[in-house]
Amino acid sequence: MSILHTNTPLKPAYVDLHIHSTASDGSLSPVEIIEAARKVGLRAIAITDHDTIEGSVEALQHQRSSGVEILPGIEISVSFDSGTMHLLGYLVRLDDDLLRQSLKVVQKARADRNVQIVERLQDLGVDIKYDEILEVSGGGQIGRPHIAHVLIQKRVVQSFDEAFNKLLKKGRPAYVERYRLLPAEAIQTILRAGGVPVLAHPFTLNAKTEGDLDRVLADLKQAGLKGVEAYYPSHGPELTACYERLAYHHGLLVTGGTDFHGTAKPGVHIGIGRGNLRIPYRLVEELKRCAATQSSCPIP
Ligand SMILES: [Zn+2]
Ligand SMILES: [Zn+2]
Repeated sequence: MSILHTNTPLKPAYVDLHIHSTASDGSLSPVEIIEAARKVGLRAIAITDHDTIEGSVEALQHQRSSGVEILPGIEISVSFDSGTMHLLGYLVRLDDDLLRQSLKVVQKARADRNVQIVERLQDLGVDIKYDEILEVSGGGQIGRPHIAHVLIQKRVVQSFDEAFNKLLKKGRPAYVERYRLLPAEAIQTILRAGGVPVLAHPFTLNAKTEGDLDRVLADLKQAGLKGVEAYYPSHGPELTACYERLAYHHGLLVTGGTDFHGTAKPGVHIGIGRGNLRIPYRLVEELKRCAATQSSCPIP
């Protein structure tokens, strides 16, 4: 498969800390992801599925035979008025009761919302059934990318971008709001499960200026945030430098990952993103130190 880049192994000291599996909206199973990571020579990965730890649970069962270190991970969508806020949780205890309970509530809200989106599409005259979405989901959690997939199959739209821009994204006719945790609730849930909460891809917050983002980070830090995802395929050098600067200013660590979704996000490859990402293993060591101390974080 071309997305695996089998001909160009990376040096073993690189990692990818933001990966989606079929447990949420990625196209590869956790086992296939581990194999892809092994082939490109990644030393460690985190499967950070949306609002579910099942991808991490499955990956950890296969860690020993693969030689790739697996960090338990999750990505939680939280409510944020002016944009999209996702919080990554690393090194969480996967058997933590509070974490599991919180995710159950969020997953129920997700499932209800998918049914409502299909109803909206039907109201808009689209011939689509919920069972068709179930069929393409691969048995994992269902999300809007699966709905987009069916819309493409049915030639309602030509691409994922068109599905979201015309129908599924906020402000479009088939968009349905859903219950989300507050940022502080998600941060506390991750902390109580022994994990390290990190702000994912800060550009999706749509902060107008560095000062605006600085204020959001100050609030999140107050709530217990420990890190910022500075290294990400669509962060150019200037944005990356901005996020590193802000992380340093707030005493937060930095992390990085590709947000790999397999064929569900074409052009983004595991470990290297769009080709130029190289995320060093030392970030994993900093995450581990942070999880071990919990009350404080290393200054990057
Ligand atoms: Zn995200
Ligand atoms: Zn993601």
